[in-house]
Amino acid sequence: ALDKAWAERWLRESARVIGEHREELIDLDRAIGDGDHGENMDRGFRAIVAKLDEDPPESVAAALKMAAMMLMSKVGGAAGPLYGTAYLRAATAVGDAAALDAPAVAAMLAAARDGIVSRGKAQPGDKTMVDAWTPAVEAAGASGEPSDGLAALGAAADAAEQGAQDTKPLVARKGRASYLGERSAGHLDPGAVSTSLILRAAVTAAS
Ligand code: ADP
Ligand code: MG
Ligand code: MG
Repeated sequence: ALDKAWAERWLRESARVIGEHREELIDLDRAIGDGDHGENMDRGFRAIVAKLDEDPPESVAAALKMAAMMLMSKVGGAAGPLYGTAYLRAATAVGDAAALDAPAVAAMLAAARDGIVSRGKAQPGDKTMVDAWTPAVEAAGASGEPSDGLAALGAAADAAEQGAQDTKPLVARKGRASYLGERSAGHLDPGAVSTSLILRAAVTAAS
């Protein structure tokens, strides 16, 4: 079930994969940004794990809200407020649900994506994390059985990975990478890659 124990495992697995891919995210951000995305995200998710250890969340929404607070206060840069807003909106969308079915997964991801867009004003195709979130939201919404939350998450993670890969040829129009203009083409967007890692972690945590 996609319940509070899953939410805690999701955050812990996110921290693990972000740590594992820290250098890769640094290298991606070094190519088109300032090289801190891996370090920023690793710092934020380590703080989340520390908080989980001392204060286990009482609900899915509480877990997401705690993550939002940690990411906003620890990550910094562009990604901290963007991910912070995403988790905060996700927590609100989840509400007092004890466990998520497919429509709830789709609503949670849509709320997260909408929060990122309202904060950062990026459109699909601007070569940002929105290019991973948007196909994930669409895939989750289109996924079959309403009772099968895990299928919705799996479809979202697959779509986010494809969306992240598809940022490679794009020219950045938002964030630090946009300063490079045409020279930003030919590289993956680091925030789209971290998004795909986090959404895959949600599946791993449920499997
Ligand atoms: P900074 O650029 O401040 O160093 P990070 O390196 O942590 O911040 O994060 C960079 C990532 O943030 C980019 O790869 C991109 O995915 C995302 N990003 C930047 N600006 C925006 C925006 N306006 N909307 C959505 N995502 C953005
Ligand atoms: Mg950076
Ligand atoms: Mg920076």
